[in-house]
Amino acid sequence: MAEAYDVIVIGGGAAGLMCALTAGQRGRRVLVVEHANRVGKKILMSGGGRCNFTNTGTTPANFLSANPHYCKSALARYTPADFIELVERHRIAYHEKELGQLFCDVSSKLIVKMLLDECADAGVRVETSCSVERVLHGEGEAPFRLHTARGAFAAPRLVIATGALSIPSLGATGFGYELARQFGHSVLPTRAGLVPLTLSGKHQERLADLSGVALPVTARCNGRSFSNQMLITHRGVSGPAILQISSYWQPGDDLRLDLLPGHEAIAWLRAQQLERPAAELKTVLADAMPKRFAQRLCELWLSNKPMKQYTAPELKQLAATLQDWPLTASGTEGYRTAEVTLGGVDTDELSSSTMESRRVPGLHFVGEVVDVTGWLGGYNFQWAWASGHAAGMAV
Ligand SMILES: Cc1cc2nc3c(=O)[nH]c(=O)nc-3n(C[C@H](O)[C@H](O)[C@H](O)COP(=O)(O)OP(=O)(O)OC[C@H]3O[C@@H](n4cnc5c(N)ncnc54)[C@H](O)[C@@H]3O)c2cc1C
Repeated sequence: MAEAYDVIVIGGGAAGLMCALTAGQRGRRVLVVEHANRVGKKILMSGGGRCNFTNTGTTPANFLSANPHYCKSALARYTPADFIELVERHRIAYHEKELGQLFCDVSSKLIVKMLLDECADAGVRVETSCSVERVLHGEGEAPFRLHTARGAFAAPRLVIATGALSIPSLGATGFGYELARQFGHSVLPTRAGLVPLTLSGKHQERLADLSGVALPVTARCNGRSFSNQMLITHRGVSGPAILQISSYWQPGDDLRLDLLPGHEAIAWLRAQQLERPAAELKTVLADAMPKRFAQRLCELWLSNKPMKQYTAPELKQLAATLQDWPLTASGTEGYRTAEVTLGGVDTDELSSSTMESRRVPGLHFVGEVVDVTGWLGGYNFQWAWASGHAAGMAV
């Protein structure tokens, strides 16, 4: 005999817990089924242990999806201000790091505790180390039946909040996609996002020993650009500018870097030529970027000589190269290190206001399993909170 609930949520991550507590507060009997030994592992890991829990500047433009309109309704109905209100009610101290990114002052653990406290107050039952063996859909008042390691459960509403493929060691699985397919939904192709890029061949050899060097760049690809730090790694490049652009890059795509962001390169080089005619290019560039990187550029890619020896066309060419430096990435570090997974359950078959399946009444998909992926900077949690809340209000 299956134990009956009003709502069963599979996945005790950010979106699943938000959905559960919202539904619980509305008087629903809610069960959360989590296969890992604790809930919210990604929340705990996030933001270097301080969870970048939202971004005050969140707009639909900060998300990638085959349907860019899909996220609008949920984001409008549960905003960063709503989550901040919850955080403040739990007296969790936070600060803005940069660009609207809010982090806990002390620890991500406080965010998980807050969500669990809210769940407990709302009477939500949370089962950890509970793997799901089968999900069946039948007839009657509670058509969704789950066979799990803790027995059988049934409910009229089932919420899939299993997240996506990034970082399998934190409990990530493709289970949500399997369930989606089981229920006749299409899953758009997935790939790693917010992920370091790898270089190969000469490019990699020429930069590998600079591993650890960081410099400001503007990274551009497929009509998008992000200005922030780039970090050179043993295998390629990382850092916020690269992580952001990685979500817009696919093998073979043209990726360009402005190595003098914030400067009008030609005007800056001309000024340097006038002010310090005897200084070599590598010395001049070292004022705008780390010395070792400037030296390497001049050794391998640019001709290094005293500034006064550059002709006007040469200076123009130099400016063009520095502002439009081609970076030939060979691939990404993959799901092992990616913060998010692009693609997922096709939004065409889901309601944008309730996250409910248009194919199977009572079935909802929330969070990262859906084809909505945010930029780096707190946007992905905001989507998890907002989509979880939207479903929680509907189930
Ligand atoms: C290292 C790292 C740092 C990050 N930092 C940030 C950040 O600072 N800010 C930000 O906005 N975003 C960040 N992200 C992204 C963010 O963590 C995710 O977008 C967000 O957690 C997605 O929420 P979710 O609830 O959809 O999925 P998840 O949080 O991944 O939760 C899914 C849950 O489902 C469980 N599950 C999976 N399969 C099953 C199954 N078969 N049965 C039962 N349970 C299952 C998982 O164990 C997990 O607990 C980070 C991601 C990573 C990997």
